[in-house]
Amino acid sequence: MTSNNSNGLDRTQTNKEDGLAQLSRSADNTRRIKNVQDKFVNSQNLQKEGRALVGEGILMKVCRKKPKQRAFFLFNDILVYGRVVISGRRYSQQKIIPLSEIQISAPIDSPENPFAWLISSPKKSFVVRANSDRERQEWLTHLERCIRYASEGNNSHHNAVAAHWIPDDKADTCMHCHTSKFSAVNRKHHCRNCGIIVCDGCSKKRFLLLHLDPKPVRVCDSCFTKLNSNTIIDSRANQRDRTADSSDSDGDENAQQYSPIPATFYQNVENL
Ligand SMILES: [Zn+2]
Ligand SMILES: [Zn+2]
Repeated sequence: MTSNNSNGLDRTQTNKEDGLAQLSRSADNTRRIKNVQDKFVNSQNLQKEGRALVGEGILMKVCRKKPKQRAFFLFNDILVYGRVVISGRRYSQQKIIPLSEIQISAPIDSPENPFAWLISSPKKSFVVRANSDRERQEWLTHLERCIRYASEGNNSHHNAVAAHWIPDDKADTCMHCHTSKFSAVNRKHHCRNCGIIVCDGCSKKRFLLLHLDPKPVRVCDSCFTKLNSNTIIDSRANQRDRTADSSDSDGDENAQQYSPIPATFYQNVENL
């Protein structure tokens, strides 16, 4: 009854999450995963025993400069996303985040980003938005269920996560000293610990945040003081082999070309 092997295949039929294991064994699932892999430029091998593709869809990812269209693929153990080269056919810049490291927020609604929520992970945290409230609810329901499934029996789910970087256009002056005005020469920086936009003068110090980088990273003066006085040693700092996710915010894309494509989920949560 209590046997839970690491990939979750030894569950009893009464387990409500068993639908995910069943899905992973279906021929349709194998075909769908191969399909996703084939559509990615330089895809990692996505085929894995026990893995199920639960759903996919296009979400707007709120980046540092502006929102960008990204294709998201929710599996029962990972979240994969990438840049859309040709809608429905070709994707690039594949990013993979283990679900056991992901935290999701409650719905966030603002006039500029309706139907949004926050996805947090150790390396990177970002806001995404769906096309409708209903679609967001579907994503959140499936995400929560898959995160629970992926996190069962491992304790890594309380890792530190990256701060969400406040988009560049949200501040003209430093959010720390409130006096330094940004310009072509006085550039904007982000505190890696709290995500606010600060001037260079207010973020001269570096602090070791091992979930982000093996080297000390830029933090604002307030965070430096706070972090420095905090002597708790984070024992989780040793499993750090993930690559930094910096390329994603680069490049010029026109968000105006965004054409909503409804998300597809391969399981109906209500019927489970
Ligand atoms: Zn400042
Ligand atoms: Zn800070």
